[in-house]
Amino acid sequence: LSIVNDKLFDIYDIKPQTIDDFIDNYHRDFDGNTLMHDKCPACGSGKYRFAFDKYVFHYVECQECCSLYVQNAVSPEELKKYSEKINREVYAKSEYVDYLEVLAEKTNFDLEVMFSRFLSIEEDIDVCYIGNKSTVFARALEKFNVRFVAYSNTLDDATAQYDLIIMDHHIEKAIDTGVVVRKAYENLKMNGHMYILSRVGSGLDILTLWEESKLYPIEHRNVLSIDGLKMLMESHGFKVKEASTPGTLDIDNVINSSSEKIPRFFRYLKSFHKENALEELRAMIQKNLLSSFSTVLVQKVK
Ligand SMILES: [Zn+2]
Repeated sequence: LSIVNDKLFDIYDIKPQTIDDFIDNYHRDFDGNTLMHDKCPACGSGKYRFAFDKYVFHYVECQECCSLYVQNAVSPEELKKYSEKINREVYAKSEYVDYLEVLAEKTNFDLEVMFSRFLSIEEDIDVCYIGNKSTVFARALEKFNVRFVAYSNTLDDATAQYDLIIMDHHIEKAIDTGVVVRKAYENLKMNGHMYILSRVGSGLDILTLWEESKLYPIEHRNVLSIDGLKMLMESHGFKVKEASTPGTLDIDNVINSSSEKIPRFFRYLKSFHKENALEELRAMIQKNLLSSFSTVLVQKVK
């Protein structure tokens, strides 16, 4: 397994604050309080224990694979209403469009190199993207012969067969992860790839900051562990080719937090500027898949 260039993913520090403000307000006003005691969205186990409450939402932790998930019922209609509102009030605004321009410029080269490892520059390639950063990925694929289709909320309307599906922070909000992964599998050609970007619940900052970590339950209904995410893919017939947690912000999120939860050890590292030690910790976290942001490359092989 290779370590993907981390420059790609240090994105949160340039994201406009208005996005978080919008999402935070929406969650404050949300009053859906029916709990569904359903199965783990990664491994299907029914064994869980309480993790934490955030806004009106109830997170539990799977006892088998350590994935975090929300037990509140959110209907497809409520999710649609939320998606339409955030599309209109955040993603369509010029501030967000400008942010994507900056992000595309920063990430273009590294994404192109990453895609060229498994896509051929000579062949025609059908790509389907789902997420809210389609311009960034369309730009990174410009040098390939690509037919590029983008969806923001659901793959339901996808009918074609694709060589590549890019699932950009979509697993997290799925009401039913099985439905989403099966649909993607059906729409992939044999030997086609899926590139998944997702927050993961097995990383340092989420496990340390817990309910104080930057999780929004409607956006982050399923915060699978990296192992849970791999299990979910394998149980749907995918071969996991590569998994990385390239985030380097975990350490900084933890040491810069004002949370009472920060272990004294980290406070010490920060207070005396142990930059070398912090750098080694960041590298160790990447190498051992212990960051809270992951990219997983899977292939349809059967
Ligand atoms: Zn599980």
